[in-house]
Amino acid sequence: MSDFPGRVAYPEALAIVRRVAAARRLGSERVATRRADGRILAGPVQAPIPLPPFDNSRMDGFALRHADVLGEGGTRLRIVGEQFAGYSVGLRIGPGECARITTGAPLPAGADTVIIREDVREQDGSISFDSVPMPGADIRAAGEDVAVGEQVLAAGQLLTPARLSLASALGLAELQVAQRPTVAVFTTGDELIEPGLPLGPGQIYNSNRELLMGLLRAQGLEPTAWPSLPDDPARIAPQLRDAASAFDVVVTCGGVSAGQKDYLPALLAAQGQIHFWKVRMKPGMPVLFGALERAAFLGLPGNPVSALATFQTLGCALLDGLQGRTEPRARRFAALAAPWRKSHERYEFLRGRLQYGQDGRLSVLPHPADASHRLRAAADSDVLLALPDGARDYAVGDVVEVFGY
Ligand code: AMP
Ligand code: MG
Repeated sequence: MSDFPGRVAYPEALAIVRRVAAARRLGSERVATRRADGRILAGPVQAPIPLPPFDNSRMDGFALRHADVLGEGGTRLRIVGEQFAGYSVGLRIGPGECARITTGAPLPAGADTVIIREDVREQDGSISFDSVPMPGADIRAAGEDVAVGEQVLAAGQLLTPARLSLASALGLAELQVAQRPTVAVFTTGDELIEPGLPLGPGQIYNSNRELLMGLLRAQGLEPTAWPSLPDDPARIAPQLRDAASAFDVVVTCGGVSAGQKDYLPALLAAQGQIHFWKVRMKPGMPVLFGALERAAFLGLPGNPVSALATFQTLGCALLDGLQGRTEPRARRFAALAAPWRKSHERYEFLRGRLQYGQDGRLSVLPHPADASHRLRAAADSDVLLALPDGARDYAVGDVVEVFGY
């Protein structure tokens, strides 16, 4: 049980996860655009129509021919019809004529300029105005936003509401997206008991299941949780193998350290494959990554904050890679609001609270309770604060990367 990388540096672990995930990239499927939010696009999207689809008015007002505008002397034009959004009435504007028009309505033939309602006087079926609109004023030209055939979205992009809106504006009712990974979640440990039951001697409530289910759902997934497993390899193995035969990803938590009852590394080595075990990160050092049956296997440490930090970093990288997400996640940085002495070499993820100063500047206050069982500190915080490899004294104002959760 030793022909795999152990005690890898965090950046190396991340690189391994990304490499393995890319090799295990999931297929794609067509889904209704109205159900595609949060999915990853599997291929580029080209515009089948221009945007706007036709020349139209940007304002409520009157469509006219700029050649008829007389300048400071005052212009008078006869209203020959009305053009509303959603209708095309085949109006044509001749010399000395104009048409009432609403925002988004197609421009009548012959018209090339719009003057807004507020700038005209209307009387006896005519309008008059003293101002001089620019030629082409308040017209949105066909194709000025998107030309036909133009690529507007790329493979690997996250489908945000704005991107789904763009696809909808182009008339696309379906999109080709990456399949969502199916994820099986196991908690392990003889000491675990479910909330709602009386607590026996030596027992603790299972808190990591809700943590992991919540973190996975926040990634847009619908994970499946198993009843907690005992620390008994004979009972763990068949259940993990069953799940690993049916799911894309198996996430476990607990049982990956070097304790007497930590059976998962040996089990994975014997029945599957280990890509790495132990990462030089804090918390989360014992994290285990490999493969079992058809699934990618992520064995998170049992301490709640370790599970949080390893999932939010390595776990998210795995899920992104499986779906071919190439667009980097938005990164956030904040200035430290308190000094921090980092006395060890490992890559550290502290818990912290974001603060917005009067000047709008973002800062982050590290939580002093930095032990990996301090769930309260994690709940009081809103970000993980990344301090890269190396011992160092951080000063107030030093900028660090933060990961929300
Ligand atoms: P382990 O990784 O199994 O050595 O567990 C490390 C610590 O995390 C121990 O104190 C466990 O009791 C605790 N722990 C493990 N799994 C859970 C869980 N699902 N919920 C809460 N605490 C846990
Ligand atoms: Mg345990």
